[in-house]
Amino acid sequence: MELLIASNNLGKVAEIKRYLQTLDLQVYSLGEWQLVKNISGALPDPEENGQTYQENALIKAQACFEWAGIPCLADDTGLEVEALDNGPGLYTARYAGVNATYADNISKMQQELQGVGNRQAKFKACLAYFDGSRVEIFNGEVSGEILAEQQGSGGFGYDPIFKPIGRNQTFAELKISEPDFLTHRVKALTKFKEFLLASVLHKVQ
Ligand code: IMP
Repeated sequence: MELLIASNNLGKVAEIKRYLQTLDLQVYSLGEWQLVKNISGALPDPEENGQTYQENALIKAQACFEWAGIPCLADDTGLEVEALDNGPGLYTARYAGVNATYADNISKMQQELQGVGNRQAKFKACLAYFDGSRVEIFNGEVSGEILAEQQGSGGFGYDPIFKPIGRNQTFAELKISEPDFLTHRVKALTKFKEFLLASVLHKVQ
């Protein structure tokens, strides 16, 4: 079976591919599919104008299915910080502006939380699978806190300032020292894998 990861975020694509690598499944990034099929033009990049993570994940999965015509898996993730009224949430990617870099977003969050006592936050991931007819949704979340200083060089996005509850390392450190750590995305992927094995795939390597 072939599966297309409906994301232009290379960090997400790498994590999803790594997690699915033991399955009897040919997993493509958008760029890989474009090369294999010799498709010209821009990669799909639909406007994420949904009101929920689920709506945004579905927008991405459906747009990529229209482009490629094979089963697609999309991910929409948000960081919800208690002291920021559970924001940036749907605006996590563009927290510091439309073209914000990861560094811009981290810097803005550190500024907003300067001197703030409550650092509690949650990462929420929503995966949407679409194969042209069937839609399946898988969620995962992790609670933690936002650190004032960055720690670690692994992962991407807000990983250097997010420390999950009960651990002394940030996601940026854990994604290197414990690649199988149950992040929000790995929790959602675990449910997706169960679905694939039970309903779609016939054999595991
Ligand atoms: P979206 O899901 O593509 O809308 O992206 C949300 C934003 O959240 C990304 O641009 C990243 O900055 C951030 N993000 C998503 N997943 C993770 C993660 O696993 N760790 C850290 N940051 C993440």
